[in-house]
Amino acid sequence: MVEVKIVEEDEKSIRVQLGDVPLSIANAIRRFTINEVPTMAVEEVLVIENSSAMPNEVLTHRISLIPFISDIDRYVAPEECDCGSKLGCEKCVVRYVLRAEALDEPLTVYSGDIIPEDPTTTVKPVSPKIPIVKLAPGQRVEMELYVRVGKGRKNAKWQAAISSLYEKDGEPGKRILFIESIGFLPPRRILKEAVSIFRKKVQELSKEIMREIGGS
Ligand SMILES: [Zn+2]
Repeated sequence: MVEVKIVEEDEKSIRVQLGDVPLSIANAIRRFTINEVPTMAVEEVLVIENSSAMPNEVLTHRISLIPFISDIDRYVAPEECDCGSKLGCEKCVVRYVLRAEALDEPLTVYSGDIIPEDPTTTVKPVSPKIPIVKLAPGQRVEMELYVRVGKGRKNAKWQAAISSLYEKDGEPGKRILFIESIGFLPPRRILKEAVSIFRKKVQELSKEIMREIGGS
């Protein structure tokens, strides 16, 4: 009989014991936690000014790697949004401004300097202390950031978790699924999303097979 038990859980990770679950199924769920669970990250940067020593591409890349605490109940991926607009709407994009200037002293710009246009949004960098760029006196950066929902499959910057699957010592058939959140979503939510994606895919497949063979 299939048996599922949470054996360990904290803010960052969850460890689930799976008994009598086919390896292929356990592995599919593991892969969905990495590739398919939606999260939110900077997809686009509009550089208005950058007089720092860091080229625009490097700066943009660094910013895109910052995980944002994600609200996937409120926001949807642009390709799933019904607005059909390239710029996006309040359901598929969150806008931010990053503006900093070093006056007499050198200044380090941090993720905490990223200011949302909508002050009520809960979508913000997982930590305010991620360093982005150092400015020498007189240097300035100003940019607009567009955060959108995406998946690890589209780009690794949206990868929700690092997950592994291993057999329990001396207990063949009993496996542990270990999910470590990158910080976008709580580990339990990542597992929940992965399972619901799995269910959806199985339903789609069953429906198609039945349609093809004329069953019901
Ligand atoms: Zn939209």
